Amino acid sequence: MKTIDKIYIDGEFVKPKGTAYFDLISPTTNEKLGKVLLGNEEDTQNAINAAKKAFKTFSKTTATERIQYLENIQNSIKKRKNDFINVMVEEYGGTFQFASVSYEYMLKSFDSAINLLNNYEFTKKMGESEVQMTPIGVVGIIIPWNSSNGFICSKLSTAIVAGCTTVIKPSEMSAQQTQLITECLHEAGLPIGVFNIVNGLGEIVGAEISRNPDIAKISFTGSTTVGKMIAKEAVNTMKRITLELGGKSPNIILEDADLSKAIPLAIMAAYMNSGQACIAGTRLLVPENKLEEVKLLVKELVLNTVVGDPKNQNTAIGPMVSQKQYERVQNYIQIGISEGAEILTGGLGKPAGLENGNFVKPTVFINVNNQMRIAREEIFGPVLSIITYKTEEEAIEIANDTSYGLQAYVSSADEKRAHNIASQISAGRVQINGIGHDPMAPFGGFKQSGIGREFGVLGLEAYLEPKALIQ
Ligand code: NAP
Ligand code: MG
Repeated sequence: MKTIDKIYIDGEFVKPKGTAYFDLISPTTNEKLGKVLLGNEEDTQNAINAAKKAFKTFSKTTATERIQYLENIQNSIKKRKNDFINVMVEEYGGTFQFASVSYEYMLKSFDSAINLLNNYEFTKKMGESEVQMTPIGVVGIIIPWNSSNGFICSKLSTAIVAGCTTVIKPSEMSAQQTQLITECLHEAGLPIGVFNIVNGLGEIVGAEISRNPDIAKISFTGSTTVGKMIAKEAVNTMKRITLELGGKSPNIILEDADLSKAIPLAIMAAYMNSGQACIAGTRLLVPENKLEEVKLLVKELVLNTVVGDPKNQNTAIGPMVSQKQYERVQNYIQIGISEGAEILTGGLGKPAGLENGNFVKPTVFINVNNQMRIAREEIFGPVLSIITYKTEEEAIEIANDTSYGLQAYVSSADEKRAHNIASQISAGRVQINGIGHDPMAPFGGFKQSGIGREFGVLGLEAYLEPKALIQ
């Protein structure tokens, strides 16, 4: 049993002033793993003050210095590979496969940050003027549990490139993962106050970050509901906001697609991170005349998908992060049934032999129309809806008939055709014949999937305030 009773403020591990504990529960067994002492408003204010003080000098550091800090962090993280993977598997229930990929992405964040620092012009000429891209100030980073340390690495590394200082509020459910990365960040020897980390509840620590006038910008990843609350609060002090929110990503299989490739990709897209992914391809759009073929392939693949202990290297789907998340997914499966959709495979309840953890049967619905709640709302679990279309125009219309627009997928034997369809989809990223991540390309949502972009130059500029000097 572990007790985490330290947060990180002004270059030190300190005991929070808050007195409430939160239990850390294993998603795989529902046994108690430990507990975390939660920070309160005062802790958050102390963290913000430390970041504010540090900003005065950190904002003036050179690119060479910042590159050194980024390399130091990356080196500390490199030393703890197994710890990072194991803690994500244990605490979050992420599969070994996913945790390993996630770890590699953490490291890559620092490569792209260094790449940006080497290439970005912080002073440009626009019109007759010199435009200085200046660090925005103290950044509040508020993140969810589904890739906690990945989010810390991508957001903090961008803040460092920009010369900003930070206050980070992870999910309290990620406390052990947070402890590990805090140790690495501490070891990296950054100037004190550049990063501060406060465990605590969203409505307490997150709300203080959203309200506090000394926070200049918030970078948030999480649900659309909480994103809207943060945005409303942030406008009172004109904070800049970057919001990475939910999704209901369409995956269009074009008529000429090679189904032996497109369907395995579709299952991967739908069930990545056990379905707890904002970019999950949860609406599979297939030509009506291919439905029977698709059904056979999907059913066979899903029945062969290994659900179980996330520690096992061949497990593809682990437990849901919490009992609450398990119940949410069950509720949506019930909604799908009540709405008249038909279960192709999966369904309610836990898979046999996995009754102790928050395991869900990977589920596929057919006879879904795009107006059903299971096709409109983000489920955040391994539940896929198959929707048929007659023409490409109709496929595009269904794909875009959503309040979200984070990511989309298109499969076709003809790259040009896929490219043409992809260009007509309202989403921040469209994946053609694959699933990849380009850390130098923008990531973010159209419509209610968010505001702003992360990664690459656009991601960096969200941490910078342009100043024109006119002579
Ligand atoms: P969430 O409830 O929105 O929580 C995200 C973070 O916000 C947590 O740290 C949470 O703290 C905090 N928070 C809650 N209420 C707050 C408030 N009033 N003020 C400030 N902060 C507050 O999201 P979740 O359920 O943890 O995660 C799942 C959601 O995240 C899904 O909807 C998913 O689509 C989205 N997501 C989006 C992306 C993306 O990049 N677009 C990536 C991953 C996940 P507590 O933990 O204490 O509640
Ligand atoms: Mg929450």
